[in-house]
Amino acid sequence: MRIMTVALALAIFGAGGVHAQHSRHLNDLNWIEVQELVPMQVQTVLLPVGTLEAHGVGPNGADNLVPEALAAYLAEELNALIAPTIPYGVNTSLDEYAGTFGISAEVLKELAQQVLSGLAATGFANIIVLNGHGPNFTPLNDAAIEVFRTTDARILVINWWSATAHVTEEVFGEQGGHAGLNENAAMMVVAPDAVHPELYRPEQATPFNDAWRAYPFPTAIGLYRPGEGLLDFDRGKAERYFARVRLELLAIVRDVLAKWEAGGR
Ligand SMILES: [Zn+2]
Repeated sequence: MRIMTVALALAIFGAGGVHAQHSRHLNDLNWIEVQELVPMQVQTVLLPVGTLEAHGVGPNGADNLVPEALAAYLAEELNALIAPTIPYGVNTSLDEYAGTFGISAEVLKELAQQVLSGLAATGFANIIVLNGHGPNFTPLNDAAIEVFRTTDARILVINWWSATAHVTEEVFGEQGGHAGLNENAAMMVVAPDAVHPELYRPEQATPFNDAWRAYPFPTAIGLYRPGEGLLDFDRGKAERYFARVRLELLAIVRDVLAKWEAGGR
């Protein structure tokens, strides 16, 4: 039985890891394949986490779609597998917009904790949580700390847009925002048919600030700095921006993985 499963896995994936033509998604693999791959050939898993939330003239699922696209890229580069996305997150000030709703921070923390524990029990040494939505960060971190303390897994939680804020500055010369220039550019690359420039008006964007909060936030686009981050729909810039985002995230994750490895935990 054991020899047969090894032979099967080698036939499907080859001796050097997951075969390029085969899926890296846990959704698509069978138990025999997972057993042979993890942890012998694959030690790292990517977990996209997002939410359903209004994103200006882009899709409500932007916070799921961008991390999923990043996971697809990173999985190839890092010889990783991809766990099914946690698609519901913690929403706050945009809940009045159609098709926008979330779950509580407590529920997300509990859900993430159980999913992370399951991935650790599967045998992954490294779990990379690719977060697409700001208010998820605290509950995801809380879950990561619990699972790190109680299993052998090492966990990195990363907000893709924060980790690449300097890329926004370099490519566009300004900062972005929620569904702003940067996130819209990512959506133009990841889900081009779901971005609708014909629906866009600059007055659909409002700067975030420290002086007031509004529920709902008055527009579905929120800017990090006044006068910056308005959408431009330039496809070339969007491609350049997202290519840099991918590389930057790869560099950050690689660096953490290497340091974990060197540190022995
Ligand atoms: Zn978003």
